Amino acid sequence: MQVMVIEDDPKIALFLERGLEAEGHAVTVASSAEDARRWLSVLGPELELILLDLGLPGEDGTDLLRWLRAGGFAAPVIVVSARDDLRDKVTGLDAGANDYITKPFAFDELLARIRAVRRSTGQPTQTELVVGDLRLDLLTKVAQRGGRQIELAPREWVMLELFMRHPRQVLSRSQILSNVWSYSFEPGSNVVDVYVGYLRRKINLPGLAPLIQTVRGAGYRLLPPTSD
Ligand code: CA
Repeated sequence: MQVMVIEDDPKIALFLERGLEAEGHAVTVASSAEDARRWLSVLGPELELILLDLGLPGEDGTDLLRWLRAGGFAAPVIVVSARDDLRDKVTGLDAGANDYITKPFAFDELLARIRAVRRSTGQPTQTELVVGDLRLDLLTKVAQRGGRQIELAPREWVMLELFMRHPRQVLSRSQILSNVWSYSFEPGSNVVDVYVGYLRRKINLPGLAPLIQTVRGAGYRLLPPTSD
């Protein structure tokens, strides 16, 4: 999907760009409304989603959004803002946003909201992830291994979904941290290792091959038992 991130904080812009690119999206970053207008004239109808910060230098994000909708821009816009005031949310949605997410947020929540917005606007989305004998139904939130249902806590679900979206790929602890927790989460703790442990206990059912491999010095990866 072709995504534009309109965000003036370089740290957050980079976080969004990297995360979305890892999900297979093409990302353009604009750091102001003026910059966004320039890119819009280049990308035009190819653009399928905008993530919009409200507090921008110069022209405010809300004004840019009104201008976009007045000009007939129809693709979904999700406001990503530190303003958590109810009035700001109402103003943003009234100006034409499809959804509103408050900073700081976990990356997985953003991905879930993107999927929800795409469903509600009729864009095709994936509803099930299958890797080997593991199956995640993203709509009913049911996880199964070899036909047996697995009960997962919310963070375990998010972590397993991350592994299943990147089978065989080594994910570093910091990648897992920023995807499952928030970018503002303090690194240096062993929370990732602890949760990988929880997840292993649940998905490595007796008689079935273990699935999550530790790659020393690099991180973890999900290896389907049927792969060669
Ligand atoms: Ca800002």
